[in-house]
Amino acid sequence: MSAYQNLRERLKEIHNINMAAAVLNWDQRTYMPSKGAAARASQLGTLARLGHEMFVARETLDLLAAAEHEVAGHPADSDERAYVRVARRSLDKATKVPTSLVTALTETCALAEDVWARARHDDDYAAFAPWLDKILHLKRQYAAAIGYEKTGRIYDALLDDFEEGMTASELDPLFEKLKQFTVPLLDAIRARQHLVGDDLLTQPCDEALQEQFSVQILKDCGYDFERGRLDRTVHPFCTNFSQNDVRITTRYEKEWLPGALFGCLHEMGHAFYEMNINPDYEATPLGGGVSLGVHESQSRLWENLVGRSKPFWKKYFPLLQQTFPQQFGKVAVGDFYKQINRVTPSFIRVEADEVTYNLHIILRYEMENELLEQELSVSDAPAAWNNKMQRYLGITPASNRDGILQDVHWSGGGIGYFPTYTLGNILAAQLFTTARRTLTDLDGQIERAEFAPLFNWLKTNVHQHGGKYPPRDLVKRVTGATLTVEPYAQYLKTKFSEIYGI
Ligand code: ZN
Repeated sequence: MSAYQNLRERLKEIHNINMAAAVLNWDQRTYMPSKGAAARASQLGTLARLGHEMFVARETLDLLAAAEHEVAGHPADSDERAYVRVARRSLDKATKVPTSLVTALTETCALAEDVWARARHDDDYAAFAPWLDKILHLKRQYAAAIGYEKTGRIYDALLDDFEEGMTASELDPLFEKLKQFTVPLLDAIRARQHLVGDDLLTQPCDEALQEQFSVQILKDCGYDFERGRLDRTVHPFCTNFSQNDVRITTRYEKEWLPGALFGCLHEMGHAFYEMNINPDYEATPLGGGVSLGVHESQSRLWENLVGRSKPFWKKYFPLLQQTFPQQFGKVAVGDFYKQINRVTPSFIRVEADEVTYNLHIILRYEMENELLEQELSVSDAPAAWNNKMQRYLGITPASNRDGILQDVHWSGGGIGYFPTYTLGNILAAQLFTTARRTLTDLDGQIERAEFAPLFNWLKTNVHQHGGKYPPRDLVKRVTGATLTVEPYAQYLKTKFSEIYGI
């Protein structure tokens, strides 16, 4: 057998260990009784260790070097070359960081998450501050181990874990444009905020019927229940154990209809990506979505550009009325459409609408940079947070619980993660605009619940490639351009000017 084949076999075994861990993780977050937590943590720890040890072992390194040599003559855009490129990237990262630092990060973050949960509950930033300081310190060491010489920004080494090749110096102008455009749009909307309420969405709606309605939409869009399932959880997610087992989860709230409905569409978008990757890539380093930003573009596209669109509700509002005749029987579809797109500055990121969402992200991105570069101290961070909230959203949180303590990310070491949410929003609009050019009647298709053309366009242009092309190359291939804010700005401007009559 060739070294390339041997490497594939070895990496497949490691992949299988990771997938077994993913099943245990899914179970933990859906059905496991709470007292199973301690044993489950130990089981997951063992699998993580086995997978990591096999990956960084001499044998893997040698096989990879031999495989690289073997496929060096293959065309630059061949699957074999992509395979060794992605494997090399992961292995370099896994071996560059000293084990002692990996352990310190894992242990500190495990403890810090616990401290954070209590600090948030008690609104006690002082309790969390020393831990944030520790994590920043370790993350600076991590960045130094990975290296950021090319750009000189600590942020780049961290961001690269979530979005390959993206740099802070590219994000800065992108986010600045977004801010310059969003803040005045939001000001204009605020002056007319009274025009759109949310009373229709807070009416009590039976959870079983919410589920029935969501499942119908998932099926219509193309989610294959023979290759996936929908379960309940506290914090919704999508996970996959193979291309033919891609599961989504959601949370029903009786008096908040949009929660489960748009949550399902969001996770479905993630699931489509994983389900439609080239079958030859299964159980290889190319067999997953290429980056968090591209992944998020898929979830946002279905959740917002399709799910919160007018054509979509022209089709589905009658079904909603049938499902909930008492609540929506006498409601006009236009009023419902406005309410599901209501814009209102709020403290909590996860509840934010399409216009304000990115401001929450930009605030965090700016603060992460300042904290890492030590331009901002951990003790001054809450004041800086509130200051930015006031400047960008026009509101100041009354407590740190509703401010700097709201997200789990920093306590878990996820510094550099937030920008991928906004990259997803930007890319979703760029992809949708490109798709619209090819699928000339996209709105009409959505209005007739003909989702196959869009589904197939995404499959052909984005999904099937899995991790083959780095995000930057993928975007260029599909849209013919680099990542740009314009289509997104245009989308927001058109949609919300109409809703608010600006
Ligand atoms: Zn997502």
